[in-house]
Amino acid sequence: MLARVAAVARSRGGEASTQQVLVIGAGMAGLAAATYLERNGVSALVLEASNRIGGRLETREISGFLADRGFAVILEDYPELRRLFKPSELNLSRFYPGLYLDMPDGSRALLSDPRRIPGTFAETVKVLRKLVASPRIPNRATSHPLDLARLFSMAPEPLETYLLAPFARAVTLDETLAAPVKLGSFLARRFLGGPASLPVSGVKELPEILAAKLKVQLGTRVESIASGSVRLEGGEVIETEWIVVAADPAGAASLLGFSQPPMADQGYAYFLAPERPLDLPAVYVPHRGRPIYTVAVITDAAPSYRLGDDPRHLVSISFSPEISATEMRRELGDLFPSFSSWEEIESAVIKAALPRSSTRLPLVYAKGVVLAGDYLASPTLNGAIESGRRAAELVMAAVYAKNKAREQS
Ligand SMILES: Cc1cc2nc3c(=O)[nH]c(=O)nc-3n(C[C@H](O)[C@H](O)[C@H](O)COP(=O)(O)OP(=O)(O)OC[C@H]3O[C@@H](n4cnc5c(N)ncnc54)[C@H](O)[C@@H]3O)c2cc1C
Repeated sequence: MLARVAAVARSRGGEASTQQVLVIGAGMAGLAAATYLERNGVSALVLEASNRIGGRLETREISGFLADRGFAVILEDYPELRRLFKPSELNLSRFYPGLYLDMPDGSRALLSDPRRIPGTFAETVKVLRKLVASPRIPNRATSHPLDLARLFSMAPEPLETYLLAPFARAVTLDETLAAPVKLGSFLARRFLGGPASLPVSGVKELPEILAAKLKVQLGTRVESIASGSVRLEGGEVIETEWIVVAADPAGAASLLGFSQPPMADQGYAYFLAPERPLDLPAVYVPHRGRPIYTVAVITDAAPSYRLGDDPRHLVSISFSPEISATEMRRELGDLFPSFSSWEEIESAVIKAALPRSSTRLPLVYAKGVVLAGDYLASPTLNGAIESGRRAAELVMAAVYAKNKAREQS
């Protein structure tokens, strides 16, 4: 029984004082917060309601393949990722630097990054030319001045329909393109700034690397928070001076009583295809008129996702949560002549996958209670880690200030 957790924070002078930091939630935000605390000599205990770490990052084994829950990629250029992990800790497999796009004439083209794939410059220019062929007068009357819809409305229509909107909705899960320009440009810069990758043993590898060095207690749901303590499901109370609430938006909202930020859902499916449906391991983003967001041959980008000797290709699909699985299959039949030979191994809609926008809440929510979570920064892994780092910094600053005052008195 865990009646009281006493963790030790070392002051700058080396003198120990009792502090206890409880981190609620073992998603990337909570694990990042606990990692930064521990790295700076402040002991942390992570309390996780479910029986696994990772939160929205989950990888399972299905039919002899690794399958992440939903389509998620790591952008190696995420600054927070590079700050948190040593390069030697990450074992990543890379996608081809480019995107498959639909073209206005009905064909499919590969838009490569010529800086990373020499010899593709001429082809890239050819594809882009087709998309910027017809300029248009922007419609200034609609949508918010700072959202992606407004920005894209100033681009040539084919560029919006075949490249900008498909990329934006794939990463924000928002068909209306209401995400702020700042988020869209951050993601585009990160996508262009480095490889899009998958950890060799699935996205769950990232939280696992962090959790291996931390104290994490699974199956421990925090039911309520009071000043200086948390109450667990079952009635147990843990006293603590600092609490980092790194629960998901719904969990944090119910613990603290604020209204949950709006969330976007994601439809996803996995298929096994006897023949490779795309020549290269680049992500395919079908045009805006189609409800399929992304198609990726996972075992081409990350061969380690094939666990046994089944030679088929693992194909990941993400799609609009508004359509049924039957419509999703009909669309795939339209896009890939070989679709009838594919075997479906999973299909589902993930509810509340991503916050639609970041929420403005005070990070120090109440005395001794600090918030972390992607909904406070940006709906990305980078945002989740950043929020965890910031929460840890706030706690550390207070711990050091207190220790210093104690030393001086
Ligand atoms: C389908 C999908 C695809 C994505 N694709 C990408 C991508 O390609 N690139 C990218 O950068 N990002 C992507 N993301 C976003 C990224 O995964 C999330 O932003 C990030 O994982 C969120 O981490 P978090 O720690 O803020 O929250 P979460 O991962 O939700 O973690 C919160 C944790 O708190 C726990 N918890 C809640 N309440 C309590 C309680 N009362 N007591 C104890 N524990 C509690 C939960 O069980 C959970 O484990 C994707 C997300 C999804 C769902």
